[in-house]
Amino acid sequence: MEYFCDMCLSTWKRVRDGELNHFMQPCSTCDGMMTWGKDVRESARRVLEVWGYAVENVDRVYVCEPNVYARRIPFRGQRVQFQHLEVKPEAFRAQQERFLSSYITTGRKEDWDLLHPSVQWLIAS
Ligand SMILES: [Zn+2]
Repeated sequence: MEYFCDMCLSTWKRVRDGELNHFMQPCSTCDGMMTWGKDVRESARRVLEVWGYAVENVDRVYVCEPNVYARRIPFRGQRVQFQHLEVKPEAFRAQQERFLSSYITTGRKEDWDLLHPSVQWLIAS
């Protein structure tokens, strides 16, 4: 099962900060995100927008398929109802449903920000 590894996150930060201008680790998940932006630095900003907060706050963050960029919806105290998420794969779906349950319980920004942007768009509409 694909998950986002902490080592990859720190490398993406170095790319964003201009310390590296390419991504060196052979990692199939990261290879697919290299082209999220018009250059590798913009890709890094987008990777960190989508995954950074969750990877820093949760032990193991599962990656969706397809793993494409989506803009985050900022927290505005959205009230949402629980729904079963039509997302793949199973580990990602189960984790995102747990994050969604937490958010519904707490209503906190910290829990909203754990949700993947594609899930935020699903539940916001
Ligand atoms: Zn990686």
